[in-house]
Amino acid sequence: MITNFHTHTYRCKHASGTEEDYTAEAVRQGAAILGFSDHGPFPDKDYGLRMDYSELGNYINAINESQEKHKDEILLYKGLEIEYHPQYTEYYRSLTEQHGLDYLALGEHTYTTPDGEFHNIFFAQSTTDYIDYANAICRAIETGFFAFVAHPDVMFINTFEWDDCCDKASELIIDCAEKHNAVLEYNANGIRRNLRAYSDGIRYPYPHKKFWDMVKQTNIRVLVGSDCHCPEQIHDEYMRKAVQTAVQMGLNVIENIF
Ligand SMILES: [Zn+2]
Ligand SMILES: [Zn+2]
Repeated sequence: MITNFHTHTYRCKHASGTEEDYTAEAVRQGAAILGFSDHGPFPDKDYGLRMDYSELGNYINAINESQEKHKDEILLYKGLEIEYHPQYTEYYRSLTEQHGLDYLALGEHTYTTPDGEFHNIFFAQSTTDYIDYANAICRAIETGFFAFVAHPDVMFINTFEWDDCCDKASELIIDCAEKHNAVLEYNANGIRRNLRAYSDGIRYPYPHKKFWDMVKQTNIRVLVGSDCHCPEQIHDEYMRKAVQTAVQMGLNVIENIF
């Protein structure tokens, strides 16, 4: 069964395609389920690279309309990919309870450090930042708001060589996910970003093999996500490679989060 729960739209301003474009393309590619998870807005502040808060209602309505139009062809779910910052607890709750979203994906691009500072993992200063990042993911998992953790190993996009902090940060995330029965996403967009020459070898920025070898030692459920930013990417060669790799590695791959 072809499914994908990590889908963006033009509303985040760095992807293309409407909700209807993705739905029609998913049907064409033979998908049974498509979950929308565009970059979620915050009500009081625009952190960039995401839809405007004023677009949230239009986004939800557009998915509902596509579902109605294609009700005999595909099952759609309404979600958002969003960062966890502790001050928004009530907001996360309202997204599902009031706005009617089916799920939230934890897409931790920015995070709150234990000292309460706002950081961006794409600009880590050293691998010690990975520990703060891992702890932020753990705090998020503990809330129970998130159906899965998108690209839990995205920190390895940074150029630092693997060291003890990388082991420790991976352990924190994996132990927490195991303890709370959380789902981790094996993200195809890291493969789409292509192989790069890092100082400790040629590899994808993510998924990082060392991280997933550690996940393999557990029974954690693993969802493969396309993280598509245009309709053609829903089940493209990178998504197929991600599924194939995750299955061949022996990860506990699931196709549906519901
Ligand atoms: Zn994006
Ligand atoms: Zn994404």
